[in-house]
Amino acid sequence: MCIFCKIINGEIPAKVVYEDEHVLAFLDINPRNKGHTLVVPKKHYERFDEMPDDELCNFIKGVKKTVEVLKKLGFDGYNIVNNNGRVAGQEVNHVHFHVIPRYEGDGEVV
Ligand code: 5GP
Ligand code: ZN
Repeated sequence: MCIFCKIINGEIPAKVVYEDEHVLAFLDINPRNKGHTLVVPKKHYERFDEMPDDELCNFIKGVKKTVEVLKKLGFDGYNIVNNNGRVAGQEVNHVHFHVIPRYEGDGEVV
């Protein structure tokens, strides 16, 4: 089982930012900025394009909800990043969107 599936199952602890029926959002263990969060579908898919459209819709809604929760950090903007394939920098083979809050003057984060 992959590391994110273990987090979803509760076998590995994580700091949960947002959760619903379809997605789990938790803080990245190696954050690139304050509040760096990973949003994952609860069902395992390796790549973004493998997800059926209806599941993608629920997933993207969960990403939006996560951004709304993170607003309490007072960010000035945010990046959403999704890597697919090792050549693109994907280290964990379970679909995840990075939500990286940005703050004025934080420099080159992404
Ligand atoms: P990727 O390079 O695949 O797009 O991003 C994987 C991300 O997962 C990295 O930013 C890394 O810090 C994060 N990560 C890897 N293992 C764990 C873990 O066990 N817990 C948490 N919270 N994040 C993890
Ligand atoms: Zn998985």
